Amino acid sequence: MQSVFDGHNDVLLRLWHHSHEGTDPVAEFRDGISTGHIDAPRARAGGLAGGLCAIYIPSGHLVFAEPDRNGHYATPLAEPLERPPSLDIALEMAAIALRLDRAGAWKLCRSTAEIRDCMDKGIFAAVLHMEGCEAIDADLAALETFYAAGLRSLGPVWSRNNVFAHGVPFAFPSSPDTGPGLTEAGFALVRECNRLGIVIDLAHITEKGFWDVAKTSDQPLVASHSNAHALTPVARNLTDKQLDAIKESRGIVGLNYATAMLRADGRSDANTPIDAMVRHVDHMVERVGIDCVGLGSDFDGATIPADIGDAAGNQKLIAALRNVGYGEADLAKLCRENWLRILASAWGESRAPRA
Ligand SMILES: [Zn+2]
Repeated sequence: MQSVFDGHNDVLLRLWHHSHEGTDPVAEFRDGISTGHIDAPRARAGGLAGGLCAIYIPSGHLVFAEPDRNGHYATPLAEPLERPPSLDIALEMAAIALRLDRAGAWKLCRSTAEIRDCMDKGIFAAVLHMEGCEAIDADLAALETFYAAGLRSLGPVWSRNNVFAHGVPFAFPSSPDTGPGLTEAGFALVRECNRLGIVIDLAHITEKGFWDVAKTSDQPLVASHSNAHALTPVARNLTDKQLDAIKESRGIVGLNYATAMLRADGRSDANTPIDAMVRHVDHMVERVGIDCVGLGSDFDGATIPADIGDAAGNQKLIAALRNVGYGEADLAKLCRENWLRILASAWGESRAPRA
């Protein structure tokens, strides 16, 4: 079995929702439940050794547009969020991550050595990520605080605009070039992430924002959960030109299991064969090489193929890749080694600490 370190999940969002209904997040993750995608027993069963766990502020009023008879849809961007409730929610999700760590239900990792140690011991290796920085103000003061709490990766923007950047809407078919990119505060955020050693994730940002980060960041480009626009022309997926830039920077693109981003017809439908996932991996590997593709499941955040089901079914994807000819050394890169290289780079493990 290939151990997987995955680039994106929303388990903290599920645990947060459930905690407001009175459940204990530690027990839910440690003992497992029957809904959702990730908990410790199912992660163990599927070889999911760890991943980037997102703090994400829900857009409560967002209604996804119904596809027309051609299957085309264009959901408008979610409304921007106010900072005070966003900060409260982000603190609550960070608190859940810290409670799970304290209780030994998972380990909140801050180095790749810690992640590898967790893999050896069979403890879920969580890395704290923020998907959209509404909880951080333009002065970046809260960034220091979240960093101290373990934040080691962030996407400046989700699919809504904020003080740092413009997000890409959920639309099919659509180019990712849907509006402006980083704001002045966004450029400052990128530079500060470089300085602190925080991954900058380009999922959900406009194409313009992608290029803004590319010309500003001193780190490899990262799109944690995005697929190939050439196969599924949804605004969230990456064009071949963007994939080329990821290759050039020795970055990473993580395969998103969301069916709406896998299917040629752009529909969200659990009845989607694992083959669709393999096709996207093939295209991306062909475009960026075996060293720059990883997994970014979007577990607990998307409608995924029923044949995978949840984290316990993760090895079915690996088996399908093996079937079409990927060898164990290549699978090790796709499943974890590429992500660990990216994290080591962003976290400054291979360079002297900065002043
Ligand atoms: Zn996402």
